Amino acid sequence: MDKSSKQPRAIELNDGTFMPLLGLGTWRGKNTSSDLCQGAAETAIAAGYRLLDTAYSYQNEQELGWALRSKIQQGVIRRQDMFIVSKLWGTHHAPEDIPVCLNTSLSDLQLDYLDLYLVHFPVGLQKVGNELFPMKDGKVLTSDIDYVDVWRGMEVLKASGKVKSIGVSNFSVTQLERLLSVAKIPPAVNQVELHPYLVQSDLIKYCKSKNIALTAYSPFGSPGRPQELRTGDTDPEMLLVDPVVGEIAAKHSRTPAQVLLRYHIEQDIAVIPKSVKPNHILENTKIFDFALDEEDMKALWSLDRGWKACVIDEVKSHPFYPFK
Ligand code: NAP
Repeated sequence: MDKSSKQPRAIELNDGTFMPLLGLGTWRGKNTSSDLCQGAAETAIAAGYRLLDTAYSYQNEQELGWALRSKIQQGVIRRQDMFIVSKLWGTHHAPEDIPVCLNTSLSDLQLDYLDLYLVHFPVGLQKVGNELFPMKDGKVLTSDIDYVDVWRGMEVLKASGKVKSIGVSNFSVTQLERLLSVAKIPPAVNQVELHPYLVQSDLIKYCKSKNIALTAYSPFGSPGRPQELRTGDTDPEMLLVDPVVGEIAAKHSRTPAQVLLRYHIEQDIAVIPKSVKPNHILENTKIFDFALDEEDMKALWSLDRGWKACVIDEVKSHPFYPFK
């Protein structure tokens, strides 16, 4: 996204580029077919979304590439109007594999640059063929490649011009501190799970103090995620039907989903709700014409229960596991 595209619905990153505050999440879970993904992206672009969030591991980048191509050909958007985010997967943390992962994403997306490229997760995985989660004897095969070394590879990518901004995802304060102590280029963004059941005020405070922008993923608590990926005693469906969220929604004549999205906008945090339903995609854009007051925000913060929808339990014994 070039500076001429600057709009109040974007935040300035620490490298001077602008990132839209609202984007379309595209992680699908197992049960959704990828053609829905192309349709969702086309609907979203037509509805005004200018950020698409994807990843090598989502295996949907070809479909998103077709959606982008089609909307560019129709004259709805120009490439520079869009802010495309993808992520380096853990199987590609070795220095020689980092550009391979990026080039695969670029080729699938039919793009010659990304606006933002993130280290998806601080824990690396072994490279076994094209496996996303290489396993042996029922265990995920992790690698011991240090995320600090991965960051050096990300800095090389930025210098190449193939990515405009670089950042991280799922990094803890301790990991960011360590990264910042050696980084030549500080991460522009940390993309993490955030919602009223997972307020993470210390992480937010730290990132803001270091001028690292935040993107909130799973803003609705990731309802609809496959059963085998559900964790803990909180049902991911609960956040959207939480009575406190419902009361605030009624007060503003909005939907609970819109309140849960606006919650991040109030904190200058970008948010990337996933939907494949046109009515939801549209509903989720209508968050810039109302505001939550201090009382609403306090009520939402009070719902904090430290619950995460996304835990990646399989690698939790790894020293770089971020959610200790
Ligand atoms: P989410 O956005 O919290 O929830 C998605 C679910 O909410 C879908 O089942 C969707 O159903 C439903 N939904 C969407 N809009 C709605 C509305 N207005 N009313 C009611 N329900 C609605 O979950 P998520 O997919 O886990 O997270 C969002 C995105 O963040 C992902 O897609 C991905 O891009 C990113 N993410 C990143 C990481 C990371 O490690 N960096 C991890 C997780 C997610 P329909 O499709 O039927 O509308």
